[in-house]
Amino acid sequence: MTQSGSHASDLYQQVILEHNQKPRNFKVLETANAYALGKNPLCGDQFAVYVSVSDDGTIEDIGFQGMGCAISKACASMMTTQVKGKTKVDALQLKDEFQKMLLGELNETTEAHHLGKLTMFSGVKQYPVRVKCATLAWHTLEAALEGKASEISTE
Ligand code: ZN
Repeated sequence: MTQSGSHASDLYQQVILEHNQKPRNFKVLETANAYALGKNPLCGDQFAVYVSVSDDGTIEDIGFQGMGCAISKACASMMTTQVKGKTKVDALQLKDEFQKMLLGELNETTEAHHLGKLTMFSGVKQYPVRVKCATLAWHTLEAALEGKASEISTE
């Protein structure tokens, strides 16, 4: 038994390791009706996001494929678990809040938000170069849902 297991930064490390070893929804979604490819040339992260959206705008299923650094992959994996079952509108609001948290525009401890588990990534804001890694999958999700671009780049 370790005594430091509940410490925020330890938890963050554990979650990143765990999602890298066993990424969730790491699959090509055969039933997808929305898709986008996201690239972060600065770090070399690249992910494809596949979404199956119902007629009423609910994300019924989601998958991702690709490769990248530990933070980008863990965030992509976590993103898929957090938006599955949500409406497009709610998912995009979450994207907005996640991005604002990492840019220091939303204080996750004092302000209202819907981030839940995603707050464990708040430490990324101390590493500005990593913010693009952390938000890549979210930008890609947004591009897929809005259907404006099939490929996006953080640069
Ligand atoms: Zn990266």
